[in-house]
Amino acid sequence: MPELPEVEAFGRWLLPQIRGRRLEAVTVLKPRLVRPCSAHEFSRALEGSRIRGIQRRGKSLLWDLVSPGGDESLLVSHLGMTGSWEVLSREAPLPRHAAVVFAVGDLRVVLDDPRQFGHLRLGAAAVPVLGPEPLDEAFTPERLGRVLAECHRPVKVALMDPSRLAGVGNLYASEALFLAGIDPTTPADRLEPVAVARVHGALQAILSAAVERNLRALHAHRPMLYQQDGLPDSPAEGGLWVYDREGLPCRRCGSPIHRFVQSGRSTYQCPRCQQR
Ligand SMILES: [Zn+2]
Repeated sequence: MPELPEVEAFGRWLLPQIRGRRLEAVTVLKPRLVRPCSAHEFSRALEGSRIRGIQRRGKSLLWDLVSPGGDESLLVSHLGMTGSWEVLSREAPLPRHAAVVFAVGDLRVVLDDPRQFGHLRLGAAAVPVLGPEPLDEAFTPERLGRVLAECHRPVKVALMDPSRLAGVGNLYASEALFLAGIDPTTPADRLEPVAVARVHGALQAILSAAVERNLRALHAHRPMLYQQDGLPDSPAEGGLWVYDREGLPCRRCGSPIHRFVQSGRSTYQCPRCQQR
């Protein structure tokens, strides 16, 4: 599932290709993604708008648009579980699960979404209300400490709660806690400041590295991690430490990785490297 680093990379990759250009035609092939708008309303609201900017908030991209009449508007896009953005020439065939197509100059910008859990919504009210951004300069270890101190739940669950922290999902929460050497079941409010600082450092390192890796993948027309079936072998190539590695040997100590469920989601842990 795309998380902060995937969405950030899509935004940074898309913007230079389409900044300042107009959405000349908007075709909705999967109306479910633009609800509550109808396909017709959605296209009419956007067609002719100029793309002024794209910013990320959590796992959403916020498209800053200006209508032909000069009115500002906002489009909020979310990739759900399986969505991705593609940029194609006008003549290229559409991907199989194309959901919404923007004609922009000689390009087609396509939201492809096999499972259709993504969405495109209009207006500032669609901007999600979220906790702090983990890659912001203002996000210090002390800020993370305050976020975690307010939560009695396990730290893994706290990190994945978008109202506490923006953009971090199951994969990067599991990986960051491994790198920080923290047991994912530790109550968030019990972490000592030194442990919070390790989680903060691990989160920033892993998220920034993933943004860069995803950007390289997009520029090389290679799939990102969440779009691949088999995962690369080592973390240096973008492989993972613990996530989705149940029963496989820990890359640090060789112990088999455990999988268990927290709040309905799989958590992966090395029982030796991640102790309380
Ligand atoms: Zn280990």
